Amino acid sequence: MSKIITRRDFLRASTAAAAGMVITPARSLWNVTGNSSAEKVIIIGAGLGGVSCAYELQNAGIDITVLEARSRPGGRVRTCRDPFADNLYAEMGAEYVDSSDEYARKYCKEFGLDILPAKLYDGIYVRGKKYDMADFKTFKQQLPYDGTVGGKLFGQEFEYVRHWVEKIKDPNDIPSDVMKLDRMSAAQLLRKEGAPKDIIELYTYTNATESTCTPDQMSALNMVFGHFYASAFSENTMEGRIFGGNDQLPKRFAKEIASNLKYNCPVKKISHNKKGVEVSFEESGKLTAMSADRCVIAMPLTILRKTKITPYFSDEKMHCIRKQSYGEVMKIAMQFKRRIWDEQGSVGQRVFTDTPLRRVYHFSIDQPGPRGILLSFTSGSSAAKLGNMSEQQRLRVARETATELWPETPYVWESGISKYWNEDPWMQGSYTYVSPGQWDFIDILAQPEEKVHFAGEHTSEFHSSMNGAIESGVRASKEIIKG
Ligand SMILES: Cc1cc2nc3c(=O)[nH]c(=O)nc-3n(C[C@H](O)[C@H](O)[C@H](O)COP(=O)(O)OP(=O)(O)OC[C@H]3O[C@@H](n4cnc5c(N)ncnc54)[C@H](O)[C@@H]3O)c2cc1C
Repeated sequence: MSKIITRRDFLRASTAAAAGMVITPARSLWNVTGNSSAEKVIIIGAGLGGVSCAYELQNAGIDITVLEARSRPGGRVRTCRDPFADNLYAEMGAEYVDSSDEYARKYCKEFGLDILPAKLYDGIYVRGKKYDMADFKTFKQQLPYDGTVGGKLFGQEFEYVRHWVEKIKDPNDIPSDVMKLDRMSAAQLLRKEGAPKDIIELYTYTNATESTCTPDQMSALNMVFGHFYASAFSENTMEGRIFGGNDQLPKRFAKEIASNLKYNCPVKKISHNKKGVEVSFEESGKLTAMSADRCVIAMPLTILRKTKITPYFSDEKMHCIRKQSYGEVMKIAMQFKRRIWDEQGSVGQRVFTDTPLRRVYHFSIDQPGPRGILLSFTSGSSAAKLGNMSEQQRLRVARETATELWPETPYVWESGISKYWNEDPWMQGSYTYVSPGQWDFIDILAQPEEKVHFAGEHTSEFHSSMNGAIESGVRASKEIIKG
């Protein structure tokens, strides 16, 4: 997926735009000093939120223990190598690092990891019709969707919400009538504003796919907000990924904290009071307890809501923990004998589609051929439907769909694997998105409760990204270091 517009992107970008500035990293988050009274901190979860927090705490001289349910670090950052030939690999979880992802980029630099620029969309395949992106733009070709403007893929819904976007003059003072849009869904607002059914359907494939849900599930306020931000995600967004595999980033953090990181230790219960915390977890089949001055919960809410918490946190925190929306997402990696997407007459090598595979693209751009990996990022109802199928059926759909795009597929297809994050026992979902009524959830979810701190993408302004997970970990470490 590509980064979704967030409030802080919006605030920073709009302020910068107003001042004619280039956005610069928020350096204030690093080099924090303080007089923390915490001698011992337990961090739950070794995703990027947890490991970045642990790393910063350890650097500040605080005694840490990280408890992780899996046997590896990185959580939703999952680079798969084993099933593929010729050292090919595929990102089955987080993939893109955007040019503005300052936290991810900062630590990549610190650990000597290079970011490889990704290719832009060069093809479209919708309603059975193929478009070459360059021709589509040059000749202002029209998509087979009612009410669309020629030569444009993303942002077709803008005209229907323009007057709402224009009401926002000051991002720090959003008019109350605009704020009320958080009570309805993006689809409801578009219908109310007279958008044809086709515009809403196209929005499913453009923006709702990134959010891993449907326009009926997304807050209308979030959609309007996204349009205020001039460079919201589009077919022109510049993205990259870590050269050699994104898993190197969590692994580098994990290496630094290795002696304090316990794998295969799922947390079952969190008890807390004014004096400290006690965390109960399974280790080698036995329930064990560990006490600390503080704890950082950096596991997804889908799992936290099933974990025993005693006493409960504040009512508003518990409400957000229980209700926060997560979407449906699947990735499918397909190994091909030859890179047919680069050959004459191909629809493209990164194709926007309305098929069950949604986004389909050549992944192995940093590796020599002749073999190559084609990746699909699919979400929402398409992911849910595929998720109900067996692995064999999923791969059959993938192969048939790839054949529609590149007819030679059956002759060069070798193998494939899928990863449906909603069936992952330590995730059970994709990542957070803003449903109606959830506009202020992030702020509430990020607030500490006595000796308990919270990290993870769901607590970050840059939610649903690696950058956001790291930002949250650094922020939680800062809360503790400051004391
Ligand atoms: C398919 C997919 C595509 C994505 N694409 C992108 C992208 O292109 N760019 C981008 O920036 N982001 C992307 N993301 C989002 C990104 O992966 C996440 O926002 C980020 O990795 C979340 O990090 P986290 O630390 O908050 O959570 P996680 O990575 O989920 O880490 C939480 C950790 O907690 C552990 N845990 C769970 N329960 C327990 C328990 N009971 N006890 C102990 N440990 C527990 C888990 O095993 C996990 O390791 C994508 C995500 C998915 C799924």
